[in-house]
Amino acid sequence: MALVNCPSCNKRISSMAKECSYCKAKISSDNESLRVISHIKRSNQLMNQSFLALTLFIAGVVIWFWGGEPAEGLRANIAVGAFSLGFVGYLITRIQIVLHKRKKV
Ligand SMILES: [Zn+2]
Repeated sequence: MALVNCPSCNKRISSMAKECSYCKAKISSDNESLRVISHIKRSNQLMNQSFLALTLFIAGVVIWFWGGEPAEGLRANIAVGAFSLGFVGYLITRIQIVLHKRKKV
């Protein structure tokens, strides 16, 4: 728990307090903006995650059909691995995004 200066009377108060214990000034605005920033950061992180998963998914398809012939052996394993990892990763990320958007900022 950190101490901050009250914006109105400048006395030292807890950063967790919703209002100053001396002058009763509301100081929730700072916490609010921090919450909004972390919410946006998380959204960006999830978007990057879904983009990565989608790239992996496409890479799997490309590896599979590379050269016009169905993949065999190691190439098939790599293709299926990337394909399913990307697919599952993308689904999980989409669910996370939906849950995240439902959360109140
Ligand atoms: Zn104050």
